[in-house]
Formats: sequence, C-alpha cells, structure tokens
Amino acid sequence: MTDSKITLAEIERALHDGDLCFHYQPKLSFETGRIVGGEALLRWQKDDGSIVPPGLFLPQAEESGFITDITAVMLTELIEDIARLRVTKPDIQVAFNVSALDLHSPYLVKMLRSFIGNHVINPGNIQIEITETAVVNQSPRVHATLLDLVALGIEIVMDDFGTGYSSLDLLSQLPFSALKLDQGVVGRMTEDPKNTHIVRSSLLMARDMSIKTIAEGVETEGVYTFLLASGCNEAQGFWMSKPLPIKQFIQIIKDDPKWPSSELGFLYNAWGNHLSYRRKVLDTVYTMTMTSPKEWDKMPLLDLRHNPAYCRLGQWYRDIKRAGISDDGTYESLEQLHREMHAAGDILVKTVKSQQSKDAIIEATDDFLRFSELVDKEVTRIVSQSFAAGLHAHGLDEFIDQAEGAE
Ligand code: C2E
Ligand code: MG
Ligand code: MG
Repeated sequence: MTDSKITLAEIERALHDGDLCFHYQPKLSFETGRIVGGEALLRWQKDDGSIVPPGLFLPQAEESGFITDITAVMLTELIEDIARLRVTKPDIQVAFNVSALDLHSPYLVKMLRSFIGNHVINPGNIQIEITETAVVNQSPRVHATLLDLVALGIEIVMDDFGTGYSSLDLLSQLPFSALKLDQGVVGRMTEDPKNTHIVRSSLLMARDMSIKTIAEGVETEGVYTFLLASGCNEAQGFWMSKPLPIKQFIQIIKDDPKWPSSELGFLYNAWGNHLSYRRKVLDTVYTMTMTSPKEWDKMPLLDLRHNPAYCRLGQWYRDIKRAGISDDGTYESLEQLHREMHAAGDILVKTVKSQQSKDAIIEATDDFLRFSELVDKEVTRIVSQSFAAGLHAHGLDEFIDQAEGAE
C-alpha cells in the first residue's frame, strides 16, 4: 500500500471503527538488563489482517489537524492498556508519542490530570515523547503545556535526538528529563565512526546535564554491548524485540527475560563525572584568574558543586555500598579520598574568589590535583577489577578457545 491511496476519510473511519491500536516495543534498562516499560506505537489493523504503519497515515492526519482526534481517542485506549499492564508490573513506564498540534491545546493535560487524579495510573506510568519539530517554533502555549505535564510528574522525552538542527538549544530551554537517540544515528554507528562520535558525545552531554539517555534502533549485539559500556541508560530495538501486540507485550513482561547488563557503563559515567568536575574546577580557576574581578558576574555558568553527594562517583559508591557488593574497604578508601578532593576543590575556588596571592592559588591547585590523581588511581583500579570480572562472567575462556580454534 502507498500513502497516496490513504485518504483522510479512510483514516477517520479507521479511528471511529476502532481499527487503530497500539503495539508496544519493550524498553529495557542497561543497569538490570530487564524490561522497564515500552513505547506505544500506533498501528492500523485492517479487516484483511494487514497492518498499516504510522508513517503511512500520520502525515495526512497531522496536515489536516485530525491528529488531535487520534491522540484524544487513543490516549483513552492507552490508559486502558496501561491499567492492564499494571496488574503484572505496577511501575511500568509507557512512552506515548505526541505531535506538535497536541501541545497547542489544553486537552492532553486535562485528560492526563484526570486519569492521574482518579488513580487510574501513576504519573510514572506514562512518558511523553516529542520530536524537535513539534517544539521548534516553541510558543508560550507549548512551553506551558510541557510545564503542566512536568508539574503532574510526567517525564518528557526528546525523541529522534541527533537528527534536528536545534535539539541542543531546545534541551536547555524546555524541561526534558530524557533524550532518545535517533534510530538512524544509532544504527549507522556500524558504518561510520562519525555517528559513533555523535552518540558518545550525546551520552556525555546528557550525563553532564543529568538527563537520562535511551537508545532506539538497537539491531545488533555489538551495538547493544557498546551502548551498555558507554553508559547509556535504556535501550529499545529489534535485537531485543520488535513492537508487540498488547497480549504478547503482557506475556513478555510476565516472562521477565534478562539481557546482558553490567555496572561498567555506570562506573564509566561516574568516572567521567569526576573528570568533568576536575575540568570544571580548573576552567573556573583559569577563567577567574585571567578575567578582571569586575567581569566575574558575566562568566559562563558552570554548576560547580563541591559536595560529593552531587557527584556521580559519590552516588555510585554509595549505591555499591548499599547493595553490599564489596566489604574489602575498596569503596571506603575511595569515599575518603573523594571527599578530600571535593573539599580541596572548594578551597581552591574560594582562594581564587577571595583574591589571595598567586602562591596561595598555586598551592591550593597542587593540593586539589594531588587528591584528584589519588581518586583517579583508585577508580582505575576498580574499573580494571570490574572489567576483568565482566570478561570472566561473559565467558572469556570460551572466547579464547574459539579464537585459538580459528587460528
Ligand atoms: P518513533 O517515535 O521514533 O518510534 C520508533 C520507530 O522505530 C518505530 O517505528 C519502531 O517500530 C521503529 N524501530 C524500533 N526499533 C527499531 C530497530 O531496531 N530498527 C529499525 N529500523 N526500526 C526500529 P513506527 O512504529 O513505524 O513509528 C514511526 C513513527 O511514527 C514514530 O517514530 C513516531 O514518530 C510516530 N508514531 C508512532 N505512534 C504514534 C502515536 O501514537 N502518535 C504520534 N503522534 N506519533 C506516533
Ligand atoms: Mg517515539
Ligand atoms: Mg525515534
């Protein structure tokens, strides 16, 4: 079937006859390897059993404005599906795609407020995915809708990240809590290293902004494993599962399959966060000492917080300790050094701010770098342990046997 054959009248009929439904593509956490939720993807089920994908009818619906009718009707269906899913998994997270027009009127917020107010779903059960094109000409109305959704406790995800022209600027202006890497960009990592750089840089940027990351279009084991090690948070793709009808989606949630998971990506993230803190301190010191104090209030803002509790490394070892993973003192010594390093960073910045002597600044910088190196050394040791543990757990011996057999 080609899109030229589909008329708006046919789409209207399909909606009114109840021929539209959702298929759900499982989304899993790299931390646990388990399904945390899914994305609701519109499907038109024809009487002859064939299925029309959204790309063939949504553009007409958007052009004509009929998309808002589709959203309103299908949101009610979605909530019913979520209520069914909650029986098996009460904390299920279902992502719902909305279009630009849906954000221009208040009905989306009104409907969701009522479903949440009546306890049909929790705010955490639904996430709203929007593409950059939906918000690029952001009107005050769109902004207000997004803020209302956030006030309800609903997460907003920027879909197809990496394809648009102004995604970066929008990320800073609108209340996104997650970004979803575009399936094309993710898929092309196997063809062109530039795509791999884009994906990695996006993950690093999101980490620094404390925004969650989701990769879509994961089609191979290699891409999955690479994203896992790169510190991406969640993934969707054909390698794990295609979008499924609701019955099969409920079944897979009941089966609770497990894909590979590792703490390595999270450890790398924590490590990266630590390195980025070090750069932030040094950049602040450099910029302040090279800029006249009366200009200091016009420096670029860096969210420089010296409290280890705000640092991923601090959060990571606290989680590890809570999980009781190690009791050999490894994490305790790191915790102590880490605390001292942040204190030294605080002193260094204060030394510069209070305009003390050059010697005092140099001494404080040396102190800070010394602690920072000690933390680095400790983390490198833990990374190497975790790396080795991972290789053994995933059958390194078998891998070597295979490699030797192939020689
Ligand atoms: P999207 O939100 O970016 O959804 C992801 C699309 O990628 C889906 O296509 C999904 O089937 C496909 N996909 C998932 N994993 C893989 C993979 O590993 N490889 C490849 N090649 N593709 C993968 P689908 O279902 O055809 O949806 C296309 C688009 O239609 C969606 O893109 C979304 O923008 C839109 N859409 C879908 N459902 C709705 C809806 O309920 N409302 C609105 N407004 N738009 C929707
Ligand atoms: Mg989407
Ligand atoms: Mg997408």
